[in-house]
Amino acid sequence: MIVLDGKKTSNDLKLEIAQEVDRMKVAGSKVPHLAAILVGEDGASLTYVGSKVRSCEQVGFESTLLKFPDTISEEELLDQVHALNTNDSIDGYIVQLPLPKHIDENKILMAIDPEKDVDGFHPYNFGKMALEMDTFIPATPFGIMEILERYQVKTKGKHVVVVGRSHIVGRPMSILLSRKGNPGNATVTLAHSHTANLAELTQQADIVIMALGIPHFLKADMVKAGAVIIDVGITRVPNADSPKGYQIVGDVDFNEVAPKSSYITPVPGGVGPMTIAMLLKNTLLACKRRQN
Ligand code: NDP
Repeated sequence: MIVLDGKKTSNDLKLEIAQEVDRMKVAGSKVPHLAAILVGEDGASLTYVGSKVRSCEQVGFESTLLKFPDTISEEELLDQVHALNTNDSIDGYIVQLPLPKHIDENKILMAIDPEKDVDGFHPYNFGKMALEMDTFIPATPFGIMEILERYQVKTKGKHVVVVGRSHIVGRPMSILLSRKGNPGNATVTLAHSHTANLAELTQQADIVIMALGIPHFLKADMVKAGAVIIDVGITRVPNADSPKGYQIVGDVDFNEVAPKSSYITPVPGGVGPMTIAMLLKNTLLACKRRQN
């Protein structure tokens, strides 16, 4: 069994990006600039945005964090989005989700300039992804593709079961692995809460990708020997022994499943760190595109 080390892989990737930024600086080019909009005080969102900003600094990007109270109106937020669209120094930006209930997330996502949509959530970019055209790919599935490629995990002709069909993880993942190319060329089953006999499907899978958000859902008796296991799940579970008062738990019962698998991502240290690295990769791409 091989542990797919997302921490190491993302550090390798960040180093490669930092080297590229150094070359851009030497050439006198503009360095990539990522902005993030954060609304409210949600603990997890604060943590995610904080680490995105820190990662920008690590690789030599510029970063801007725009923080607003959760009382901001939809119109005011749309004004901020339009301002980022027309701000020439910003190459790409993200709007950290979830947004407060009184704001229509789709309206905000639709207002983002697709050329700056480094999360790849805009329908224009999502459509291009489905049509196998060059675009921004949502960072989490993009990170999974990157780790599969770097560890040379074979996907061609394999049966992949993706559990979870969200617009940011499961569904794009299912599209990417069914596309032509490498990684890709897989036969994909996309499962969700209405799927009948889920265990029968996961037992047949060569690759199982868990993205549902239920701690330790996938057990050893649900997978076949030698399967590749990708765990996207991140759930904060209270733990009085941890300094933070909680621990991060994945959707896979790692201790049970790992001995049966050929490759497996741990939680933490698997898919999570890859997500941030791929956001940086998309921002670098956005910056280069805008200069050409
Ligand atoms: P969502 O809550 O948007 O989607 C969950 C999906 O799981 C839905 O499609 C739902 O089905 C499905 N589901 C729920 N229960 C079951 C069940 N019993 N059997 C089968 N399918 C089920 O979650 P996200 O995609 O946003 O996130 C999934 C997990 O990944 C979360 O833990 C999240 O924190 C984590 N995450 C991790 C990231 C990372 O960087 N590592 C990035 C993003 C998310 P239905 O559609 O029918 O409701």
